[in-house]
Amino acid sequence: MKNLVILGSTGSIGTQSLKVAKKHGYKIKALAAGKNTELLEKQAREFKPQFVAVSDENAAKDIKIRLRDTDIKVLSGEDGVCEAASLECDMVLNSIVGIAGLRPTLAAIEKGTDIALANKETLVTGGEIVNKRLKEKGVKIIPVDSEHSAIFQSLQGAPRGSLKKILLTASGGPFFGKKREELENVTVAEALNHPNWSMGSKITIDSATLMNKGLEVIEAVHLFGVSADNIEVLVHRQSILHSGVELCDGAVIAQLGTPDMKLPIAYALTYPERFDYAFEKLDLFKVGTLTFEKPDTDTFRCLQLCIDAINEGGLAPAAVNGANEEAVALFLSGKIGFLQIGELVEKALLGVKNKKDFSVEDIFEADKAAREIVRKFGW
Ligand code: NDP
Repeated sequence: MKNLVILGSTGSIGTQSLKVAKKHGYKIKALAAGKNTELLEKQAREFKPQFVAVSDENAAKDIKIRLRDTDIKVLSGEDGVCEAASLECDMVLNSIVGIAGLRPTLAAIEKGTDIALANKETLVTGGEIVNKRLKEKGVKIIPVDSEHSAIFQSLQGAPRGSLKKILLTASGGPFFGKKREELENVTVAEALNHPNWSMGSKITIDSATLMNKGLEVIEAVHLFGVSADNIEVLVHRQSILHSGVELCDGAVIAQLGTPDMKLPIAYALTYPERFDYAFEKLDLFKVGTLTFEKPDTDTFRCLQLCIDAINEGGLAPAAVNGANEEAVALFLSGKIGFLQIGELVEKALLGVKNKKDFSVEDIFEADKAAREIVRKFGW
């Protein structure tokens, strides 16, 4: 039986992680969220953690009142979330959205706890620093992102040094096949209408712009130690082949399954074991056909901007990520159009001062500078 800390428990991945944890009978040491105290209270009453952490200070006051008849201790603010990540436990699952996930990941590493990582922004913004600390502390990150889980699963048993290429699949999102002029006036509702996956709003918009795939290229570079040149993005509309690898002898190994995040979540939590799994099984006869196409990086610029950023290195990925977080928030609140997301990310990539040797503070400075550029040009 494992004892888990789940960060971002009120989100799409967090709620599915709790389903998986319940099915396997895992204990929950702590839950952390941003501000959704109504759901957090429900989760706390069901899973009876010792701690809950809430990053928003007002929400922390609210959850204290809601849970005053229990023994559950409330931790508050970003420091409280990091404290939750530093608790003694078997694994921290980080499913916080955005760069807010970086410090809690680092806190878990400092404590020496293995991490099931859904928060891709951790590696996008802080990949070099995170990898260095993982090595020094002997800590493992097991990917939860379905593509990276598929790559990780495909590499089990592959000899060290045999990886030649990563085949990173993309659903293409709701606007696949459309050209720039057709995307000028798309609405938030249309962009949130993902064909295959049900996810939080930020990643759903990232899927529509293909920024999500770009962030995943950067994530894969840090997780698997390859360069962006050795990662091929394939648009695969059915979301059945979740990604794969080409090995030195030409063998291609991939992982297939239904588009259901509970499988990669369960694999990350149970690795290296595989537990009997009773969620929906894949029926290949029902799927029938699997197709693969090249992405259109002229229309979906964000993918190329991420590749440019990781090739440039330093703080460029943090700038791209921060600009995107800000631009997506502006798009979701109706303040900018869909195509402006990529345009503003490009401005930030060009405008934020880069540095090759950098600290965690520098990452947050670059994030802030990128957001300022987006706000300045996005109005
Ligand atoms: P959601 O928006 O559904 O959930 C985000 C979670 O993070 C919520 O619990 C939210 O709390 C919490 N949160 C936000 N800010 C903070 C903060 N400062 N401190 C603590 N918690 C915070 O996102 P998803 O579950 O969709 O995605 C989470 C991460 O997983 C992202 O990095 C995404 O890219 C990645 N991912 C998601 C997939 C999916 O299928 N959804 C697939 C692969 C990767 P609250 O609700 O209280 O505000």
